[in-house]
Amino acid sequence: MTGSVQQVVILGGGSAGWLCAAVLAAELGGASAEAVQVTLVESPDVPTIGVGEGTWPSMRATLHRVGLSETELVRECDAAFKQGSCFQGWVDGSASDRYYHPFMLPHGHGDADVAGAWLQHPEAGPFAACVGVQPRLCEAGLAPKQVVTPEFGGVVNYGYHFDAVKLGLLLRRHATQVLGVRHVVDHVQVVHSHENGDIAALATAQHGKVEGDLFIDCSGMASLLIGQHYAVPLRSEQAVLFNDSALAVQVAYDKPDRPLACATIATAQAAGWTWDIGLPTRRGVGLVYASAHMGDAEAERTLEAHLRATHAGEAAAAPRRIRFQPGWRATFWHRNCVAVGLAAGFIEPLEASALALVELSAAMIRDEFPATRADMDLVARRFNESFRYRWARIIDFLKLHYALSRRSDTGYWREHREPRTLPDSLREFLQLWRHRSPSRNDLHRNDEVFPVASYQYVLYGMGFRPTQQRAPREGELARARGCLQEADRLGRRLLGGLPRHRELIAHIRAHGMAPAQ
Ligand SMILES: Cc1cc2nc3c(=O)[nH]c(=O)nc-3n(C[C@H](O)[C@H](O)[C@H](O)COP(=O)(O)OP(=O)(O)OC[C@H]3O[C@@H](n4cnc5c(N)ncnc54)[C@H](O)[C@@H]3O)c2cc1C
Repeated sequence: MTGSVQQVVILGGGSAGWLCAAVLAAELGGASAEAVQVTLVESPDVPTIGVGEGTWPSMRATLHRVGLSETELVRECDAAFKQGSCFQGWVDGSASDRYYHPFMLPHGHGDADVAGAWLQHPEAGPFAACVGVQPRLCEAGLAPKQVVTPEFGGVVNYGYHFDAVKLGLLLRRHATQVLGVRHVVDHVQVVHSHENGDIAALATAQHGKVEGDLFIDCSGMASLLIGQHYAVPLRSEQAVLFNDSALAVQVAYDKPDRPLACATIATAQAAGWTWDIGLPTRRGVGLVYASAHMGDAEAERTLEAHLRATHAGEAAAAPRRIRFQPGWRATFWHRNCVAVGLAAGFIEPLEASALALVELSAAMIRDEFPATRADMDLVARRFNESFRYRWARIIDFLKLHYALSRRSDTGYWREHREPRTLPDSLREFLQLWRHRSPSRNDLHRNDEVFPVASYQYVLYGMGFRPTQQRAPREGELARARGCLQEADRLGRRLLGGLPRHRELIAHIRAHGMAPAQ
């Protein structure tokens, strides 16, 4: 077959399905004869996962590019701003054990060896707080932008916290009413194939066959097309990252005017960690844990204790339990089918990389969209290579948080440090980083999921120190020290110049933001 590729069928209406639909329709759709037509099929009987409330800054560009307004996002999705993550209790579990992985690069990163300069005097203060401003802004409850900052612009870098279900509804409305996406609400029962093994159509219960040239599997953990139909195996990562269960709950604020957190708070627990995400009207809280190390009843008690300790108000409902198999598909794009979102794989939500991978996947499908079926296998090969690399880096980066911990209170934490549980690539990185800071020689691809600075934030936040680091040359050191001083001055200026996060959100809800420039 060498036919043109114009009919895209997306199976699944969760965040992955609607993001893909909007990203493709916004730029490949339209009324011309060559335009791509996007159809999204979603079952009325299978609910979306309904969690996934923290994003990266990349989501700003994604939403802007598909034509959504940030004011609408704040008003309709209970959205707030996120400046990074705050890790509590990961290093040794002591009362003062707390560090930030902010979204901004260290001040002067790339121009000067800022990490090298900080390592000369780590006693000056935590790495993230010395090289940048965001830990101070988060501690003070401040927003990343001002009242007059236009949509999608920031004084400092930010992503979002939002209600995942409401985001799905907003994307659905925008995709169907503005971008021309066809929406079929029906349960897919059978997959029909061409003789060559390509998917020809999805047979639905009420709407007959939905035919297409390219099928995007966004069916969630069921992974109906890539996993079930094509039997592409899941590459398990459980031996590296043990967590396989979660409890999720929505809780009210005990007082409605509580400061609105501007970072996801990830607190280490006996056999996992809790996430705490502040939305304007409620918090989204959950425990991620390893069932081999913590029973379900103990998990519930752990979550309850966290809620009590953090002054949560009433829960909207009992916690929902979610099981997952940590891993990713050995192949994401097979024949005329590509998996995105949970259908492609899922590892615990530490560092919230899942939606970022959805954005990267949708963008690559859009940018490399094969004109004909004959071009598709080449695009598929490149896609698979890119995303295998990205998953491997995500595994390394998440494992870093555990491998460096000095906690010894449970077998869970001790086992996380055992060399047999570390990927070879991470072991090599750690060997290199004993002598020098992570550099762009280590992570040099375009669109690295986690940039070099992220590794520095976690390494030095977790207390890792190189053993024989070469001291920067005098001139280099002076330049880097200048950056540290500049970061400090900037931090003090912004502390006086940015509004409180909760106040800014209230202002935006009432008055909106100026349109993006
Ligand atoms: C505990 C937890 C916390 C998370 N936190 C974060 C986070 O903070 N940040 C982040 O980026 N990500 C997070 N994630 C991941 C994030 O939730 C997902 O990546 C995201 O929601 C995408 O899900 P999805 O669209 O792939 O799947 P789903 O939301 O499960 O959607 C699946 C869709 O497939 C449809 N479907 C299934 N079977 C059929 C059928 N037979 N016929 C028709 N339709 C069908 C369903 O109706 C549904 O519409 C988290 C995940 C978990 C489990």
